[in-house]
Amino acid sequence: MWRMSAARRFAVISSSESPKDQKALFRRAVVVGGSVAGLMAARVLSDHAEDVVVIERDDLTALGAGVRPGVPQGNQVHALLPSGQRQLERWFPGFVEEALAEGAVTPPRGTNRFYLDGQLRQDPPSGPAAAQGIVSSRPFLEALIRRRVLAIPNVRPVAGRAEGLLMDGDTVTGVRYVAEGDNTVTGQKADFVVDATGRSSRLGDWLDAYDFPKPPMRRMAIKLNYATALYRRPADPDVWTCISIANPGPGRTARIGGFTPIEGGRWTLLVSGYDADRPGRDADEFRERCVRDFPPEFGEVATKAALEGEVHTYHQADSRRRDFHRLRRFPARLVAAGDAVASFNPVYGQGMTSAMLHASCLSEYLRGDPDLSRPARAYFADVKVVVDAAWQVSTMADLALPHVDGPYPAGYRAIRWASGLIFKASMRDQAVNHRLGQVTTMLAHPSALTSPRFLVRALSIGARA
Ligand SMILES: Cc1cc2nc3c(=O)[nH]c(=O)nc-3n(C[C@H](O)[C@H](O)[C@H](O)COP(=O)(O)OP(=O)(O)OC[C@H]3O[C@@H](n4cnc5c(N)ncnc54)[C@H](O)[C@@H]3O)c2cc1C
Repeated sequence: MWRMSAARRFAVISSSESPKDQKALFRRAVVVGGSVAGLMAARVLSDHAEDVVVIERDDLTALGAGVRPGVPQGNQVHALLPSGQRQLERWFPGFVEEALAEGAVTPPRGTNRFYLDGQLRQDPPSGPAAAQGIVSSRPFLEALIRRRVLAIPNVRPVAGRAEGLLMDGDTVTGVRYVAEGDNTVTGQKADFVVDATGRSSRLGDWLDAYDFPKPPMRRMAIKLNYATALYRRPADPDVWTCISIANPGPGRTARIGGFTPIEGGRWTLLVSGYDADRPGRDADEFRERCVRDFPPEFGEVATKAALEGEVHTYHQADSRRRDFHRLRRFPARLVAAGDAVASFNPVYGQGMTSAMLHASCLSEYLRGDPDLSRPARAYFADVKVVVDAAWQVSTMADLALPHVDGPYPAGYRAIRWASGLIFKASMRDQAVNHRLGQVTTMLAHPSALTSPRFLVRALSIGARA
């Protein structure tokens, strides 16, 4: 089958245009997992099914805007990339305005600081560090998405834990689950099923139970350690946001940290380390780390602002992707989305945006006259484009870490050499800076950095830098 280039396909998937048509395909669609990926999938499916059921082990109707057990990473810093913000606005028109009215923050211009390898940069590069957009805590953002999705008349949540699939031959016909407060397994019939149960998804086991192969998994051991704390923020601080990226080098340990304003007049402050560099939960140790290992702005916040609550830690052993597109056999009427497909080193802020782009892939698939008696290969081909884009950016950067030992892509040395020069050039040249920012914020596919004209410009500027 003829397919567009990955860059063009990525541009279609990440478009900001809201689909106008509502093509009826199913009586009932079931989404398993009611977090970002599941909620976005439910929004898309509401255009195509009479009834959309979201099975989630946390009771979605009883949740507030706090951290919930099903998403333990919710108390860590969560940045929303501009591409994700664009998808939210696309699927929920007026989302940004609503988020701002509810307390999300846009830091005033000129109040952001960006440090690279300990040096303050006057002109921060585009990318997560410089993104002008809404910032908030993760539970706040998820609660807003949840409110919008649950307000759709044909979407209904069911509190329960999914345990497996229902199948008829090579076609998925529903989900088996245990309802909240019940010990019996119930079957929920469905014409289409989405697995959005996160990075620990057991879909492979559910497939195996029916003698279907499990999706092959690729991992990169990153051994990332996070610690995040909340602080009271003064009404009008000089510095609202500060990001510090220290790359590994002589006398330098790889560390990323940042603080951003969030709703409720607070800052959320992250310090991270790799491997044995592991920030703990102790508040004194956290403060010392801010003072000792990060730029002075971190120490200012940690010593002068009031700590609110506890320090929360999180360890992520690996980045991982499940390559559904490589499966020869797969049931019809089944897809996976979000972290259940791929989860990356969170320092690059790609997870929620990827989940939103997977929803866009689902919309492309369902609007494209799919043959529902066959596996959703066109969907997984689009998802591969999105996963490749995020994976290339995050794993290429992670391979530079001393404790990360592969797997290395073909041509790694040449790619690393070119990436180094592009990065240097981005510090000097607005056009290179802009293009690199488009890629790191998932507004463009990484192949945007490989066009001959761009490469000649970036490499020559980088070589002189
Ligand atoms: C420390 C950390 C920091 C991060 N920072 C960022 C960031 O800055 N920016 C960003 O974009 N992303 C970030 N991420 C990634 C982000 O959290 C995820 O990509 C995002 O939550 C999308 O995930 P998801 O919806 O696929 O899965 P999850 O959010 O993990 O949700 C899975 C859902 O499935 C439910 N579930 C699981 N099993 C079952 C079952 N059997 N039955 C019913 N329900 C079930 C769970 O309760 C949960 O609600 C970070 C992740 C971590 C770990």
